[in-house]
Amino acid sequence: MALIVVVIGAVALGLGRGDSPDQPDDPNAGTSLATKKKVAVSDPANTALVRWVGGGLVDVVSIVPIGANGHTYEPIPADAMLVATADLYIENGKGLNEAVSSFVRANYRPGTPDVVLADVIPGDEIIATDSAEQIAAHGHAHSFNAHFWTDPVYASLYVDRIATALEAIDPANATTYRNRAQEFTSRMNAYDAAFRSAIASIPAQNRKLVVYHDSWSYFGRRYGIPVIGAIQPVSFSEPSADEVRRMINQIRNEAVPAFFGSEVFPSDVLESIASETGATYYSDLSDEELPGVAGTPEHSYEGMMIENVRLITSALGGDVSLLASLPLPEVIG
Ligand SMILES: [Zn+2]
Repeated sequence: MALIVVVIGAVALGLGRGDSPDQPDDPNAGTSLATKKKVAVSDPANTALVRWVGGGLVDVVSIVPIGANGHTYEPIPADAMLVATADLYIENGKGLNEAVSSFVRANYRPGTPDVVLADVIPGDEIIATDSAEQIAAHGHAHSFNAHFWTDPVYASLYVDRIATALEAIDPANATTYRNRAQEFTSRMNAYDAAFRSAIASIPAQNRKLVVYHDSWSYFGRRYGIPVIGAIQPVSFSEPSADEVRRMINQIRNEAVPAFFGSEVFPSDVLESIASETGATYYSDLSDEELPGVAGTPEHSYEGMMIENVRLITSALGGDVSLLASLPLPEVIG
């Protein structure tokens, strides 16, 4: 009985297509697109993870456009429509972008599930970014490093949470979401082992990170390559002359052979630090922009992380062959 109803419904939609000005020539009209749930995600990095779990089965949109800066993007009025039509909102949380979070909460439909991925990270593993004085004065921290996803073990926790959230809004595809999450976790187990070996192959005196934007503290803690210096002020403004001077001294004192910027935070200051210190500056570490062309396996969280670890390993004198033959995801959706 139910089957007959579905068939008749599909035929009716098919016949109606083109007759109604409300139904443009969408090749998917009358098929699954009409019933696909919409998922709004706060930022590009987490959008890549949600696309892996939900690709083809849900529509996924990033509120911060790809290529825009995830911390400083201010929502525009058109984003309100995007948020108001979402069936699920997934955000990173822990202050990654407060402007986006509060804009979304002001614009989504009442009752829309709102998932904060950072909630899966154990509280005592979260790194505060307040100064020691600020923490002492308040008795607790107010600001935190929110870049959990650069650690593949945390990325697995994120993807597991994403699968649970998609199962709740779309139970019919629950098995697929769960299988994709498990597949991701097994890839991340391979990545975790390879990243550990690659970073360990860097000569001990070079095994430290100086970065412009500190999205690498969790990665660094996981693999024994601590972030010993980050130059970008929390306001995302250009560093002051004093901050630049401190960075130059630190690079000299620690004899750091290379330091890293990121493509979403270009800064001329880094070039001048390189010429003053003799350390090599690499501009293309990425914590949210995916490499390669959309629709290829490299254009993925996995592709991005392999590129990052390859860059860090080779710039600091390690063995990049340890990163060979890591599995990339198939292209879905
Ligand atoms: Zn960031």
